[in-house]
Amino acid sequence: MEQLGFDGMPRRLYPCTPTRLAAWLDCPRRYRMTYLDRPPPPKGPPWAHNSLGASVHNALAGWWRLPRRERTVAAAGDLLDTGWISDGFADDAQSAAHRRECRRMVEDYVAGLDPAVEPLGVERTVATRTDLIAVSGRIDRLDARPAADGGPGDLVVVDYKTGRHVLTVDDARGSLALALYALAAERVMRRPCLRVELHHLPTGTVLAWGHTPESLARQLRRAEDIAGECAAADDRYLGDPMAAATFPPRPGPGCGWCDFRAQCPEGAAAARPRRPWDGLADLPDTGPSLAATA
Ligand code: SF4
Repeated sequence: MEQLGFDGMPRRLYPCTPTRLAAWLDCPRRYRMTYLDRPPPPKGPPWAHNSLGASVHNALAGWWRLPRRERTVAAAGDLLDTGWISDGFADDAQSAAHRRECRRMVEDYVAGLDPAVEPLGVERTVATRTDLIAVSGRIDRLDARPAADGGPGDLVVVDYKTGRHVLTVDDARGSLALALYALAAERVMRRPCLRVELHHLPTGTVLAWGHTPESLARQLRRAEDIAGECAAADDRYLGDPMAAATFPPRPGPGCGWCDFRAQCPEGAAAARPRRPWDGLADLPDTGPSLAATA
């Protein structure tokens, strides 16, 4: 049956990523400034915690791309060192302290991996579609874990986390992004993919959730509902980019971390500005450099 949009018209296929859908849910104004305003409004400076996260992700992806015999613990640390991104740190000393900590973190993580077990994908882009949405995204790692009987087993979506926020299993269970990745991986690989895992490197914990086909279908319907709101808002924006009511701000404490806080009076009033390095975890060995930045 033809799906109808908000105005009774057939709804077009909406191309999206989980990040775009999450941006809409989080704050429609931020969504507009990120995805619709052209030229895009100026962003604030880069965040050190984003640099740290990208550095760790790049090192782990690079490690899996090495020939198997070169996948040593030290090689992971070396990749972290050589690819370190220092944008957003207060100074060289703070950057170096976190680089050392991340080297330790990455080495500890790969020490628990079997370099001979090849993932099915590393930073692999997957995509799927329904009658309403075409969703795509990049999976940190896609594993194929052997079944207990030695069979090929199911696929597992692995997502690396580097933030200081402590995660729970509910974060894996409720993640729309992980569910969509699982559905897309299943479609691309033509194998069941029900298990999703968050690998929290700072604590060395794995938060895993086993979906059912029904729970994945629920998440897909949720994505379609959000996409329907986005598509209607996009259409209204094309008709009138100044239709502010379509993209209301959603001010709150998180506005301190928003790239567009300087362009948003409501957000600026709601939260104090954050320094680019405020999202970093405190380290015991950062010494006088951090004291100087307090
Ligand atoms: S500062 Fe807050 S309210 Fe304003 S766009 Fe950013 S998240 Fe939305």
